[in-house]
Amino acid sequence: MERPDQSDQENLQLAGCPAGGKPAPTIYDAESVEAVRRRQAVQPHRMKLFRNALFKHAKDWGEALELLPPPARSEMEREVAFETLSLAGRQDSSVDGASKLAFQTQDGCLVESVVLRPRTGRTSLCISSQVGCACYCSFCATGLMGFTRNLAAAEILDQVGQACRLVKAEGRSLRNVVFMGMGEPLLNLDQVSSAVEFLLAPEFFHLSGSRITVSTVGIPEAMVRFARCFPGVQLALSLHSARQPVRERLMPQARRYPLDMLRESLVEAACNGKVMIEYLMLAGVNDSDEDLAALMAYLSGIPVHINIIPFNEFSGCNLRGTPRPARERFALRLKQAGFDTTLRYSLGSDIAAACGQLVRHRKGTGHGAG
Ligand code: SF4
Repeated sequence: MERPDQSDQENLQLAGCPAGGKPAPTIYDAESVEAVRRRQAVQPHRMKLFRNALFKHAKDWGEALELLPPPARSEMEREVAFETLSLAGRQDSSVDGASKLAFQTQDGCLVESVVLRPRTGRTSLCISSQVGCACYCSFCATGLMGFTRNLAAAEILDQVGQACRLVKAEGRSLRNVVFMGMGEPLLNLDQVSSAVEFLLAPEFFHLSGSRITVSTVGIPEAMVRFARCFPGVQLALSLHSARQPVRERLMPQARRYPLDMLRESLVEAACNGKVMIEYLMLAGVNDSDEDLAALMAYLSGIPVHINIIPFNEFSGCNLRGTPRPARERFALRLKQAGFDTTLRYSLGSDIAAACGQLVRHRKGTGHGAG
């Protein structure tokens, strides 16, 4: 597939909408829902019950609609789409309780979300922000598939809405939402920001910022803008190397945004609190003593929490993960140097749902993700 020019990508970003013009109103479009309320003269407290049922208690929309007077119920059903995505497939891990959900958009694209059920009981959802990705990170299956389009805020939020209902049926509730699925969220900044506002809003999902994580490969200006707009939301930077040539090899975006430039944005974003640093460990690529020294020097004096992540291999990629004992030594030396460091493990790797393994784009053209 031919790689889109960055300017094409940014034009799409400015358009901020799926292909095909103005989307129909959805339940995530507060103005349209309010317009129905006004036309039908529904009391505000009835609307509040309706919204709480949908977004806080993850009720089925049919059940939530019962809370509205019949004429308002009919108009709402007629005028507002309750789901913008249809569930096209589901795979459940046989080893760790992760579930990969494949959603189809109205224009036939496929995106994936992953429900993670770690032993801590903190159910998390990893969501997509774009169909494919234009960043082409060499360790990521999504990146190797190219970019199709940005997701609209409603499509981002519907991944959350549907997953909330799914886990509620299991007696769980979603604790964390992480933007770590398909796509680079900060290259879809407007729609991602609208979605984050909705997730935070007391009248809708009312998640606290600390339960939302937005992960980026490092788009400096957008990082600063996002951190200023959402000071309570957790930002995660996929650093993966503090050596410029190595980072460029792993992440083409690093050519455009060199480490020096990125560090300035990181310092500014970290004014709000610790930034997560994601460090994927790749054998013979970024796991030497020289890499460790560069990482420590780069992050020195910045409030960060470093996550050391195992690599999930996939076909067509010749990178290999650093073995666990070496990852443990690397993490230990970071801790000894005074850095908050966590050695992560992957959930969902047996169903290609782990970090960097999501690849489907369009019905019938998926690879590797089943
Ligand atoms: S790691 Fe993230 S930014 Fe990089 S190609 Fe994959 S989805 Fe895109």
